[in-house]
Amino acid sequence: MATKQDYYQTLGVSRDAKEDDIRKAYRKLARKYHPDLNPGDKPAEERFKNVQEAYDILSDSKKRQVYDQFGVYSDHIPPGGPGGGSGPGAGQDSGRRPNMGFGGFEWPPEGAEDNGGGAGFGNFRDIFSTMFGGGRAGAQQQASNVPERGTDLEYGLNIGFWESIRGTQVKLNISRQEVCPTCGGSGSSGGTSEVCPECDGTGKVTQMAGSMRFSLTCPRCDGKGRLKNVCPTCHGEGRVTKTETVETRIPPGVPSGSRLRVAGKGNAGILGGPAGDLYITVRVEPHPFFRREGDTIEIVLPVTVSEAGLGAKIEVPTIDGRALLKVPQGTQNGQRFRLREKGVFNARKNQRGDEIVEVVIQAPKVQDERTKELLRELAKVSTEDPRQEIWSKV
Ligand SMILES: [Zn+2]
Ligand SMILES: [Zn+2]
Repeated sequence: MATKQDYYQTLGVSRDAKEDDIRKAYRKLARKYHPDLNPGDKPAEERFKNVQEAYDILSDSKKRQVYDQFGVYSDHIPPGGPGGGSGPGAGQDSGRRPNMGFGGFEWPPEGAEDNGGGAGFGNFRDIFSTMFGGGRAGAQQQASNVPERGTDLEYGLNIGFWESIRGTQVKLNISRQEVCPTCGGSGSSGGTSEVCPECDGTGKVTQMAGSMRFSLTCPRCDGKGRLKNVCPTCHGEGRVTKTETVETRIPPGVPSGSRLRVAGKGNAGILGGPAGDLYITVRVEPHPFFRREGDTIEIVLPVTVSEAGLGAKIEVPTIDGRALLKVPQGTQNGQRFRLREKGVFNARKNQRGDEIVEVVIQAPKVQDERTKELLRELAKVSTEDPRQEIWSKV
């Protein structure tokens, strides 16, 4: 609850004191009245508390601004406005009233005292919640009764090359928030509820703003006058964290880096809000020979000098197994051949990519006389200089 003390007076600083002066004053007074140094001294203890409170407000520029403006500051301002503020989005007033600032704010000078439901109070509270990010001051302050969608979860998954080509079924152990099985998400255990100590069951609390008194809906019990019994399983959260096995299908052809969505497998929502989604980012382990480029599979294939020179039909590995490739006569090193529709199936385009075969010509291993003889023969007939082009340019 707000008290009537003048924080500046408590710290003995002027109203335009700098942050530094406030800190110095606080340190001096805190040392002087510290309970450890004044055992059993009630007035000193009281002074110490006041000094703490004053410093808490004045050392925080936002709180100080509010205090300077209204002569009062309280953390106990619930999110959302009273009454009509229970629609979706009421917990996030910064978005709802983007232009609401101190400058444009007008006090309701009359009729303000008798009830907390007036429009002016909506503004008053909205300002607090706007300034303090929805006014969620503490765990018990989750007085918002607006259902909220659960947050999304991210999961990184490594799969093998073949799993990415053919698709796979995976079981993921996901740690996610679920609706509490004990209270069904309400956070309350039901039963007889306790009278709210903040408002003594009246549902209203009084706030001072300068010389004016205001009656506000009690933020602790949200005006109900009674506190709901907190669920022992989830401690009022309405959700519990559980490790769940989520089974999902990774479709064939999924490229590395793709992000798959599993709807509804993120965190459970708050107060009946929908669950978030689970996003799986897939990383595909590389294959020792196949390289994937989009839907295209690339492979580097060694061929012999005679295969390249004379032409040959050779077997080529594809992701379906073996395929035949006709290497034409006179094939050069590095030449690339396309095998149509031997690449990865693309479900979106409903078609397959190609496979590109790049040949590298392997020189023969010369270990016997016969091979040497043949190569000498070859040298006699092939008079072309493979370095001719290079020499012409250097
Ligand atoms: Zn519960
Ligand atoms: Zn109350």
